Amino acid sequence: MTIGILGGGQLGYMLALAGYPLGLHFRFLDPSPEAPVGRIAHRVTAEYTDEPALEKFAHGLEVVTYEFENVPVQAARFLAERVPVYPPANALEEAQNRLREKQLFRRLGISTTEFAEIAKWNDLDGAIRQVGLPAIVKTCRMGYDGKGQWLLRTTEDVEKARPELPTVPLILEKFVPFSREVSILGVRSRNGETAFYPLLENRHRGGILRLSLAPAPNVPPGLQQSAEEAGRKVLEALGYAGVLCIEFFEVGGKLLANEMAPRVHNSGHWSIEGAVTSQFENHLRAILGMPLGSTAAIGLSAMVNLIGELPDAEEVLRVQNTHLHLYGKLPRPGRKLGHVTVRADKLEKLQQRLRDLPAFFHRPEFCLDEALAEALAKRA
Ligand code: AMP
Repeated sequence: MTIGILGGGQLGYMLALAGYPLGLHFRFLDPSPEAPVGRIAHRVTAEYTDEPALEKFAHGLEVVTYEFENVPVQAARFLAERVPVYPPANALEEAQNRLREKQLFRRLGISTTEFAEIAKWNDLDGAIRQVGLPAIVKTCRMGYDGKGQWLLRTTEDVEKARPELPTVPLILEKFVPFSREVSILGVRSRNGETAFYPLLENRHRGGILRLSLAPAPNVPPGLQQSAEEAGRKVLEALGYAGVLCIEFFEVGGKLLANEMAPRVHNSGHWSIEGAVTSQFENHLRAILGMPLGSTAAIGLSAMVNLIGELPDAEEVLRVQNTHLHLYGKLPRPGRKLGHVTVRADKLEKLQQRLRDLPAFFHRPEFCLDEALAEALAKRA
């Protein structure tokens, strides 16, 4: 069986690695001739809008999925007329637009921060009157990893930002004084079977994920259930198959949904070694309509992203129960080049192993020392 994947980055790479033991084959389509999957699978280099190339790509595939959420919806629809595409194209369409995404959450009764549409530049003042300050302006489309965002704390910030705002649809969101950011990974099979991984705690710098703790420490009663309820509503409303990630702000012991990704997600990388079944394997099982694997965590994991530069591999591997993943990409500032997952069966051991990581990881941007001091501090 051959699975087609749109996008040839590290998420696709890890999907293929999870699929080979199941006897699956992979064919990727990516516009870049440098896409990392070229090292391990058949890669077609073509634009997502190249319909003759998509037609040829689809030939003989069992199912098509995607690992990149900005794949044009039209490409998913074009392919869906020829071969099953999961998650469905409507999930892609909802997730590509922050406004639609928040409106979907609201329609399904999932709490979000206050928000308002800025369809034209002169809607800004009306949106501010509705939402209040502090607030964040975001582009509705193509924003990721903190790009395309303006924080407005004061009216001076508003005047400063006004000429900088692009003339594209924008959304204004009330700033959330969150205590932390968490995410849930849900998976739904084509046959309707659904499962959830434990809530994860995520730390970002400059809008980029730096650290995930799995399971999230110190989860108050009811929080996992409320994240799962939100996940289930979205999975069912979209007739979904595959892994879906929803990111939330935790504020006052409650969750506010911020965004969703209709694909495997960076905050789920720990599951390769830290869960009974990884998000990548479960995504494949789900889109093929196979039984799902257990989503239970095996002990505790911390996943650290390697952004822009790499540590010495030997120094990392010397730390017990530590797994290094390199994506085969050339180093460039801000680029996700790999990740490291550290595992332990007890909190004390996890703390010790994280402290044992080389000095490279103990710079503030890794968020590791702050997590050790706060979330992973031993409770008295
Ligand atoms: P996003 O692209 O929506 O994931 O935003 C990137 C990061 O900006 C988030 O991970 C948060 O740390 C921060 N952020 C986004 N929206 C808000 C908000 N409404 N209130 C507070 N912080 C936010």
